[in-house]
Amino acid sequence: MQKATRQQTKEQNRNLVLKIFFERSSISRAEIARMTHLTRTTVSDIVADLIEEGLVAEIGLGSSTGGKSPILVSLVDNSRYFIGIDLAYNMFCGAIINLRNQISNMVCLPADGMDGEKSLKAIFEILDPLTRSDCQPILGIGVGTPGLVNSREGIVVNAVNLGWYDLPLARILESRYRLPVFLLNDCQAAAMGEFIYGQSPPASPNMIVVRAGHGIGSGIIINGQLFQGDGGAAGEIGHVVIVHKDGLPCRCGNFGCLETVASARAVVQQAQSLAGNSIAAQAGKDPHSVTLETLEKAVENGDEAALQIVVQAGKYLGLAVASLVGMLNIHNVVLMGEMTRFGNPWLKAIRDTVAKTALSRLTRDATIHIGSLRENGVILGAAASMVSDYSLLFGNTHLIVEQSHLINSVERAREQQLSLD
Ligand SMILES: [Zn+2]
Repeated sequence: MQKATRQQTKEQNRNLVLKIFFERSSISRAEIARMTHLTRTTVSDIVADLIEEGLVAEIGLGSSTGGKSPILVSLVDNSRYFIGIDLAYNMFCGAIINLRNQISNMVCLPADGMDGEKSLKAIFEILDPLTRSDCQPILGIGVGTPGLVNSREGIVVNAVNLGWYDLPLARILESRYRLPVFLLNDCQAAAMGEFIYGQSPPASPNMIVVRAGHGIGSGIIINGQLFQGDGGAAGEIGHVVIVHKDGLPCRCGNFGCLETVASARAVVQQAQSLAGNSIAAQAGKDPHSVTLETLEKAVENGDEAALQIVVQAGKYLGLAVASLVGMLNIHNVVLMGEMTRFGNPWLKAIRDTVAKTALSRLTRDATIHIGSLRENGVILGAAASMVSDYSLLFGNTHLIVEQSHLINSVERAREQQLSLD
């Protein structure tokens, strides 16, 4: 028992020191001792171990503050790697991320209209070359997937677009690649990405990240940790009914969900319905040629009808943001996803609606802005959730993965067909 406690203390101290190496480009042993309040001997022992592991290295001398110049030690950026995957609705992308979150070896595949089995094969097509790349060792795979996800069990409970129901994706990938796999809802992964790597360092350890693209969802960070709720679906705001009378049918089976009025898909549909009018004039007369880009251009060119579509979508999203701000009293709200392309008119509609519909005391200090990470937010966030588990860096994870019947998992899972409600 005593031994276990000593071991735990040792790991805690090691993690404390590692955290500093991740936060600083380089640092001396003495400075680490000052920051951590550990003794110089303890710090020296830990650093010696980390050097032996190849995780950090001495890189030269720092400037002297009077006495001898201190030796600077730094993380070895390319000593370990992770893979991050973003299963976006029209494109699957995966990449390798080093310890400094630098992305390389990006592989993307179009993913439109694939069924459950094809979606899974596409992931293999991305992961096969990535896991065999020169970037070694790879320590784990983080996956950001749309839909309801049970991260603890590694199961995609329901991803309508991908045709996955109760799919044990983590086990399938762990079995194939013999690596730990961590699944996250894509909005939650994006929230992690934005919180850790976003441009301005967050002033508070709390953050709401709302992702408005093809679908809508949010990720909630509380005290620097992703809050997933009891069932893993915290922040799943896209299917909250927001139009109560004559709402449009939603892909979830309900009517009037937030996604039916505020998503990228919703605004494109509305723009297409204006075919023959101003927007279609720019896109030709075919409604199907009206895309998000067409709408964006129309707004930029001062097309009033196009602007109205975007502003109305912003107002609806604002209602959902106001609920989140009112419920959680989190000041820092970051917006991500394809809808952010509409910039100021959209953002202003959201801000105005939040100011009007939530308690002024709560919204007064809230800042709502567009995030700095664009297309790589989910990949970085999915990988980040693994990097933060320092124990993975030491290769002491042993996977116990059952090999049998995994190939048939998709078929079995389909039969169970869990639905959103
Ligand atoms: Zn819905």
